[in-house]
Amino acid sequence: MIFVLKLVGYFLLWTLWSYTMHVIAHTNFKYNFIRYFHLKHHAYNYGDSNLPPWHDYFFWFGEWRSSMDVYITFTIPLIILTIFDPVYGGILLAFHYVYEVFLSRNVLDHNPNITGNITRFIPIGKFHLCHHRNVKCNFSFYITLWDYLFRTNDARVLKKRYERQQQRQKALATSVSDTPLTDENA
Ligand SMILES: [Zn+2]
Ligand SMILES: [Zn+2]
Repeated sequence: MIFVLKLVGYFLLWTLWSYTMHVIAHTNFKYNFIRYFHLKHHAYNYGDSNLPPWHDYFFWFGEWRSSMDVYITFTIPLIILTIFDPVYGGILLAFHYVYEVFLSRNVLDHNPNITGNITRFIPIGKFHLCHHRNVKCNFSFYITLWDYLFRTNDARVLKKRYERQQQRQKALATSVSDTPLTDENA
């Protein structure tokens, strides 16, 4: 039981780390190298092959920016965990390898055919593709929990944007009706 709880605990911490790195990757500030690496992910054309390119098997993702993006967001924290707690770190590293090489491209993350309830819990298909259309929402990997907890899920972000627009329109309407009629604006 302790084993499962610890594994789940480490998994949650790891997903929180990747969520945080992804939010930072979409934050604008000087010398944001995480952003520089990650923008390559958004420029990538995933094609339609379900099979990974040969270099993925060696955990090299075609060029250094895409590779660094994966290493910083996912791999480095797991290597550190493996040094301190090898069994749990090893299990998560194996999971990370299989997911990244075989599932993260077209099979799950960027598969437009995955819609419906599953995407409310696992950030694949529709959920992750929504992040590609609007980089202000849906930052989570593996589990959508952090987007719901920090209110960055698409429904919440779009609702906020809509409310802001409504407020702006209302403010504009009142300022126009408050303006006294003069020769200039009559
Ligand atoms: Zn992104
Ligand atoms: Zn993506």
